[in-house]
Amino acid sequence: MKITLLGTGSAAGVPVWGCDCPACVAAGLDKRRRRRVTCATVEGSRGRLLIDGGVPDLAERLAPRDISALLVTHFHIDHVLGLFALRWSKASPIPAFAPPDLEGCADLFKHPGPFEFRRPPAFERFEIAGLGVTPVPLTHSKPTFGYCIDDGRARLAYLTDTKGLPADTAKFVAGFKPDLLVLDCSYPPREAPPRNHNDLPLAAECIAQVRPQRTLLVHISHELEAWLMEHPAMPPNSGLASDGETIDL
Ligand SMILES: [Zn+2]
Ligand SMILES: [Zn+2]
Ligand SMILES: [Zn+2]
Repeated sequence: MKITLLGTGSAAGVPVWGCDCPACVAAGLDKRRRRRVTCATVEGSRGRLLIDGGVPDLAERLAPRDISALLVTHFHIDHVLGLFALRWSKASPIPAFAPPDLEGCADLFKHPGPFEFRRPPAFERFEIAGLGVTPVPLTHSKPTFGYCIDDGRARLAYLTDTKGLPADTAKFVAGFKPDLLVLDCSYPPREAPPRNHNDLPLAAECIAQVRPQRTLLVHISHELEAWLMEHPAMPPNSGLASDGETIDL
């Protein structure tokens, strides 16, 4: 299984337009430090899954034949923006799996382009592109699924956007024994707990519950990056993901 992180940033990305904090200045000077919105592809033996489509230039990155199916975590704009540009596509239908959110985003359900939306039940594994996929509910301001993906050998848990984990999800993902956890960590430690995303202590709590081999943090804000420049402390076996990073599991 091969994972490619197309983007690893929060909705604002890094650098934030007009911000002169140390993280944004550094990202302005060095392209490798830039972060687009969080999305990824997962390649199995028989095809490739796209997880979210928030990056605006999806059409330039992927041809229709490159995508066997789309997994949508939720319908916030930073996770679906790129899909709007594809609605005039002439591509063959592409199955799209999404959480039970009847609203979606703007008129995406009315004009879905090539995407055929389905709402799979939580905690029920299905197979697509030679990969097993199990949706797991997360804690966010819209109905949101993380996805546990396996190829019979390696196991990936992709959990964003979320604040902590619902108890049944934490239990399921711990039992799934992921080799790699890709986890929301939007903020540095906050005095008042954040409402919709993990800060670093909440991310550490999720990691302690799930006990993955390794963790990559995504949905990273400029505030977290600037804070880490001063306080380089990370939970065990974890690191910040980078845009374009690929991981072979
Ligand atoms: Zn900044
Ligand atoms: Zn969100
Ligand atoms: Zn988001």
